Amino acid sequence: MNHILDIEHLRTHFTTEEGVVRAVDDVSIQVRRGEIVCIVGESGSGKSITAMSVMGLVEEPAGQVAGGSIKFGGEDLLKLSRSELRTLRGNEIAMIFQEPMTSLNPVLRIGEQIMEPLMEHQKLGRKAARKRAIELISEVGISRAEQIADSYPHELSGGMLQRIMIAIAISCSPKLLIADEPTTALDVTIQAQILDMLRRFKEESDMSILLITHDLGVVAEMADYVIVMYAGKVVEEGEVVALFENPKHPYTQGLLKSKPIINQRQEELYSIPGQVPSPLELKPSCYFHERCAHCMDICRTAEPALKKAGSRQKTACWLYEEAIAHV
Ligand code: SF4
Ligand code: MG
Repeated sequence: MNHILDIEHLRTHFTTEEGVVRAVDDVSIQVRRGEIVCIVGESGSGKSITAMSVMGLVEEPAGQVAGGSIKFGGEDLLKLSRSELRTLRGNEIAMIFQEPMTSLNPVLRIGEQIMEPLMEHQKLGRKAARKRAIELISEVGISRAEQIADSYPHELSGGMLQRIMIAIAISCSPKLLIADEPTTALDVTIQAQILDMLRRFKEESDMSILLITHDLGVVAEMADYVIVMYAGKVVEEGEVVALFENPKHPYTQGLLKSKPIINQRQEELYSIPGQVPSPLELKPSCYFHERCAHCMDICRTAEPALKKAGSRQKTACWLYEEAIAHV
């Protein structure tokens, strides 16, 4: 089997006082072995919630995975018990977030925090774990590794902490790394170093990466395959070169109007006039119709399906369905 991760028809909902928010609405995503898949979208597109659903981190009862399957190496993660999922997490699937301090313990020395998964998942003894932790600190490009191992998180810079998070993430040689905006808080030079490092680890270990970003420069640098999300749905996907050269969906075309400049940080996605619709008011339609210059009658009343639009490219837009219907 060629896919390490196979998300099919995922639905993740949140119950709020105003109603049910379909944060992830029938999303299917495949990650092939050794591939970097980037999910790109504005905030509120559902990209982070998709990742959290994979990791089993959607907080019940307000949030819940309401449908679909998430297969990892063929096994449906949604059918695993909490403890089985915990074993997988950090061992076979690792995750890094934008803000390292949300995952690090402020009162525990760095070395101890890297040792923890090594002792828990790899069953190393304290001495071997300490030795490996120090090696890992060097591997993520930090000098004076022993001294760093004995420091506390607040003594390190944001860039160093993110390197430590990567050291923890790769410590158990995961098959899949999920990275949610891992370099968004960092300056451009450090961002480039960290992305290079992630790519190098991927190449050396054959790990796959699911990378979530709003930064098209990061997508251009890193992705093999790109998923574009909008209002909880995948609106377009494809291999990075094909998608950048020939975006089909008007939303993707809009995003790409701002040419991503590599090594220059993008604070936000280029903004297309208008706003993402409120997730509570969605009626069957193309959710992009209020912002789309090509909007037709059908776009306001029926939802376009995600359909093949190239060898590995798919798009969800009535323009192409109409074109096919009239051939
Ligand atoms: Fe625009 Fe219609 Fe395509 Fe939606 S389906 S992106 S509104 S043309
Ligand atoms: Mg996010």
